[in-house]
Amino acid sequence: MGKRCFICNRVFDDYKSLRIHFKRAHNNSHCDICGAKTDNLVLHYMKKDDLQHFIASCIVLDCEQIKDEKLRKVIKQLIDAILDDSSASM
Ligand SMILES: [Zn+2]
Ligand SMILES: [Zn+2]
Repeated sequence: MGKRCFICNRVFDDYKSLRIHFKRAHNNSHCDICGAKTDNLVLHYMKKDDLQHFIASCIVLDCEQIKDEKLRKVIKQLIDAILDDSSASM
């Protein structure tokens, strides 16, 4: 069962491959989610408060921005489920 990139819909074998793809393909001077131009994409992801930007920040930072260890664990599981290829598309 693969993980789907929610921006370009490509499917990858696992979360690791998706992460590598995400950082390579969607790490531009503009945001692939909303099209905004930005010098600091990660900061942009974190400033926005919608789900897609939040997921993007979690993928890029591997949830390291979440300081609470228990919460981080839960969020990681949620992200994992959301990115699952078999789940409904966003
Ligand atoms: Zn993608
Ligand atoms: Zn954006």
